[in-house]
Amino acid sequence: MFANQALRPWWYLLVAVLLALLPWASPNPYYVNLAQEVAILAIAGIGLNILLGLSGQISLGQAGFFAVSAYGSALLSLRLGWPLAASVMLGVIMSGLAGLVVGSIALRARTHYLAMVTLAFGFIVGILAQRWTGFTGGSMGLVGVPPLNWGDPRSAARNFLWTAAALFLAVQITSDFVMQSRSGRVLRTISESESFAATVGINAAAWRVGAFVVSAMLAGLAGALFAHQSGYVSSDAFNLDRSLAMLIVVVVGGLGHRYGPVLGAVFLVAMNQAIADLYTYSNFIFGALLLAVMVFLPDGLSGLGALVRRKRPASLRRNEAGPGAPGVGDIVNLPLIAVARGEPLLQLQQVSKSYFGLAALSDVSMTVRAGTVHALIGPNGAGKSTLINTICGLYRADSGVIRLAEHDITQWPAHRRARLGLARTFQNLQLIGGLSVIENVMLGVPDRGGVVKAFVSWLCGRPFESEQRARARALLGFLGIEGFADVSPGDLSYGHRKLAELARALAGQPQLMLLDEPIAGINEEESRLIAAGIGRLREAGVTILLVEHDMPFVMSVADEITVLDYGQKIAFGAPDAVRANPVVVEAYLGVETA
Ligand code: ADP
Ligand code: MG
Repeated sequence: MFANQALRPWWYLLVAVLLALLPWASPNPYYVNLAQEVAILAIAGIGLNILLGLSGQISLGQAGFFAVSAYGSALLSLRLGWPLAASVMLGVIMSGLAGLVVGSIALRARTHYLAMVTLAFGFIVGILAQRWTGFTGGSMGLVGVPPLNWGDPRSAARNFLWTAAALFLAVQITSDFVMQSRSGRVLRTISESESFAATVGINAAAWRVGAFVVSAMLAGLAGALFAHQSGYVSSDAFNLDRSLAMLIVVVVGGLGHRYGPVLGAVFLVAMNQAIADLYTYSNFIFGALLLAVMVFLPDGLSGLGALVRRKRPASLRRNEAGPGAPGVGDIVNLPLIAVARGEPLLQLQQVSKSYFGLAALSDVSMTVRAGTVHALIGPNGAGKSTLINTICGLYRADSGVIRLAEHDITQWPAHRRARLGLARTFQNLQLIGGLSVIENVMLGVPDRGGVVKAFVSWLCGRPFESEQRARARALLGFLGIEGFADVSPGDLSYGHRKLAELARALAGQPQLMLLDEPIAGINEEESRLIAAGIGRLREAGVTILLVEHDMPFVMSVADEITVLDYGQKIAFGAPDAVRANPVVVEAYLGVETA
């Protein structure tokens, strides 16, 4: 699952040839029609797979997007005489706009509310189609919609199949790329944790809406093909059943799997044939089927392959022939740091933050100077994690000012702060389970907008995203865990996961790293690895603000220490001065040694 799979050109070529030959191979035009249906359903399914399988947003209203484009393209070609290429394209764009609207509304909703919002959209479109008869023809339908064909009318069915199949292949290939490239990783990340996504610079809202637009456009492409398949469009075609059919396609095929939608589409069309006589029971049968798949086969038909292929244990090749452990210089490229060593990099002025009236931070002012390691210590509940969260933007300060280099970032959203070079690790670890270790680290590498270049390289079978991958691998090597690059983070020990997080935080060449308890809860050997890593970063001049309870570690690594107690700064200074400060001993250190 985690392997970096290239395009499979021969595989696709074979499919293309089979589809091209189907009209001749099949004695019965009926099968050509079924193949057309599979292609249409698979295109819509791929859209829903991106939305639900990757970004984790459910839609029960895909039939609405399908209908917008079906009517749009049908009417443009029928009433205004537009050529089909243009009417289909505009229909797809109209569906995309509908996706933009629904996706923006959906931003305010989660889980079951999201299901209801999309369901409502599907109903609204369905009712409009039925009642706005002057425009849509209602359930009587629009008759005489120009069928999609080029050339001889006798070859219409064949030509339509070729067109639909070519479009399906193009969509499938693009979706394959999405699944294996940064976009797919970003979507999977958002579906696991939006707030975490923001801390690595991802604008989750934009991506969520984007997923809606793409899925709506693909549903729209399917809808337009449908309209020009039979030459007849009626409102009966756009009810809840169609939305559910698309859901069945992706769930039965296997959510988030590259070939899930096409497997599901073949299955659904075949199933419809098989139970054609039991038409009255079809809803019952499909409902039972959906439940059974969700309970017994969570990866759908795509999961069957994995069951057959015996699960291989994750191979933990530790530090096998790599490019050799990179030096710190390869890892941190200091030019990003805009502030001279020793000058203030991060400044907090009277920052306060309370939760429901409980003051977690009260007027905290502090300065972290560039190129130093600054430790934040204090008893449990002192407000250290709150301070880190307020700095990185997961929480907004109630009052006060936060400056990073020359920017006032107080009101910036977290993803914007991350892009400026604020990277962090979490007290309770944040790694994305749906991605491999190296892919998690690659999340930290900033996106420099090379999507087109990556897509072209991938199409040509060349390595793509290789810089990000190489950088992530070098970082894993730097921290001594390169051998775990391709396994799931869930298979790592707690300490190795902490190291993987540290690698991800380093990946973006951060100006400032915020480390929340980097060596808490791990064994001595691992904690030595992390301490050594931090020491090397410090030598390289990386600025670090860290929270840690381990006093010997703090004393050895910190240049300056700020002490918090009950949300207030009670001391600041060099390690020796802080250790000798009676207020600190009373509030914190005394407790530690007692
Ligand atoms: P520390 O990291 O120093 O142990 P925290 O910043 O986690 O302290 O917590 C400071 C105070 O704020 C504690 O009293 C804690 O219970 C409270 N607190 C922290 N996070 C939340 C939250 N999300 N909602 C409500 N209270 C919180
Ligand atoms: Mg904490």
